[in-house]
Formats: sequence, structure tokens, C-alpha cells
Amino acid sequence: MTARAVRIPDDLRAAIYAHARAAFPAECCGYLVGAAGGDAVDEAIACANAHGAGDDRAFAIEGAELLAFARTFRSPRPARVVYHSHTNGRAYFSERDRAVAATPDGPAYDVQHLVVGVIAAGATEAAQFAWSAEARDFVEVARWSTRAVSDAATLAIAGDDTSPERLRDAFGRLHEHARAGGTVELDELHAIADRLAAAVAVVPEHELAAHREWARPRKYVPGARQPGKPVAAILAANSLEIELRDLRYELARMCSPAPCDCAILVELGIVTRRPTPAPRWLDGDGMYWDDFECDACGARWTEHKDCDDVGVHSQWQPTKPRVLG
Ligand SMILES: [Zn+2]
Ligand SMILES: [Zn+2]
Repeated sequence: MTARAVRIPDDLRAAIYAHARAAFPAECCGYLVGAAGGDAVDEAIACANAHGAGDDRAFAIEGAELLAFARTFRSPRPARVVYHSHTNGRAYFSERDRAVAATPDGPAYDVQHLVVGVIAAGATEAAQFAWSAEARDFVEVARWSTRAVSDAATLAIAGDDTSPERLRDAFGRLHEHARAGGTVELDELHAIADRLAAAVAVVPEHELAAHREWARPRKYVPGARQPGKPVAAILAANSLEIELRDLRYELARMCSPAPCDCAILVELGIVTRRPTPAPRWLDGDGMYWDDFECDACGARWTEHKDCDDVGVHSQWQPTKPRVLG
């Protein structure tokens, strides 16, 4: 059976978040004590982490602090929850956490675990894990997000880490919030999108230099090696630009009272997306240019189709009066 989550009051969690932030970029650790047999903890005891910094490196309580921790189990106020932070901003129970917290026979101590995701700007999320006898593993029993949208924002622009992976993660969170609808501060989301836009210019200068070098006209010299094109970096940057555009679309759609998205597509210059709801087909030459009209707003659209080796691509352009021959 999975134990119920030992209740961690908000103020105690706030204290742990503060500890995690103060310790950053190192990880913090400590434990929470409460009355034996009770359902909650009411005091946090911060410890020094004997391990170094890292995204989710195993933490370690050692020496006198470990003795004091072990002694609580024979006291009326035992340790009920052990906490530590992950400096990659994510709260999860890592493989290393499992290795430290449990042996093949079960949990090393009769405690639950609280993992706090933290970045330079502060805690982003937290999750609590309890031993499950059925799963023979620690399972998540509670989760918190600290002002979810701000988290996504700070995560997106945290420190110098604007790696495509980190940005993609931030986009994922923002998309989630945008889709959740209603519960987000749109102004804040727009501000975040702007900051992301700045961060998305991610192709590093040396990659661009490599690209320019690759594109430079040169004389063919038999046997001479051509410089490699930094394809991966450029593709990564392009995919982030698409993510950013999609995010802006979602935000604009949420803000717009219009029954169709025609105006948004025009404003954002999006040509790869068919207007929704689907416009009514008018006429056209049936080959490369088809004309449509939106029943909601009356906007006229032309679908331009183009073929290449990959397939048929279509572009939706707002129609300018076209002279038919
Ligand atoms: Zn961990
Ligand atoms: Zn429309």
C-alpha cells in the first residue's frame, strides 16, 4: 500500500524553497519532523549537502547531521520527510535518488521524500514521493507548482542556459499553460514569449561563422576537404522559431473574441496554417491556386500549392484582388 502523503504545510514548503534558492547552484537537503503517528510535519531541519552541485546529483547528509537525523527516529518527533533540490528546475525522483533512498529490501529509512526543482530565480516546482509496497518503489503522492507561469518564464530565461533543450522544455510548459486557458495571466505569457523570442536566436556565433564559411564560394580543389555544414544547430534554431510562432498563435487565439482566426494568421504572418474554421471553397483553377472565403469574417484566402521532392506544400495567403486572365 502506498502511504498517504505526510502533510507539509505551505509555510514549511516556503522555507524549503528559500533554502533551495539560497543554496543554488549547489543543491540543498534537509528533513522535516513532526509528531510520531501524526499526519503532518511542522519543522524543517536544514543540513549541509556532502555532495557537490549538479542537475540531480545524489545528495548526502553525513557526519553529525546524519547521527542527529537517525536519532529522531527514537524521539517523539521523528523525521517523516527528507527533502532535497534539483538545480535543473525539475521535481522528480531520479535513479540516484532511488538508489540512495531504498535498498532491495525496501526504503532505507521510514520517510517520504520531497524534491524541489530550483533555478537561480527560485523554486519552480516540488513533488512528494512515498514508498509503495506494491510497486516496490517510491511513487509520487503530491505535487506543487510555484506560480506556474512565472516558473515557465524563469525557466525559459534562467541563467545562461538557452540550450535548445532547455528552451524546448520551456515552450512545452508554456503551451500547457496556454492550453489550460483562463488560469494564466496573458500579459505575463506575452512578456515571456517576447523574452523567449530573444533567447531563440540560438544559433551560436561560431556555428553561424561555420555556416558562412560553408556557404562561401570556393574553388574546387581535388582532394581538399569541404567544411561541414552545421545542419543540426540551424535545424534546432528553426524548430524553436516554429515553436515560438505556434505559442504566439495560441496566445492570440485565447485573447481573441473573434469566431475565426483569420485576423491572427494575417497579423502573425502565418501562411502554413489553414484558417479555422475551414473557409468555404469558392473557385480557382483547381491546380495551384484555390480561393476560399471565411464565413465568419468574410476574409478571402488563396491556397497556393507547391510541389517538391518531399510532397505538396500549401500556403494560405490573404487574397489581394487577383486579375483572372
Ligand atoms: Zn534528486
Ligand atoms: Zn475569418
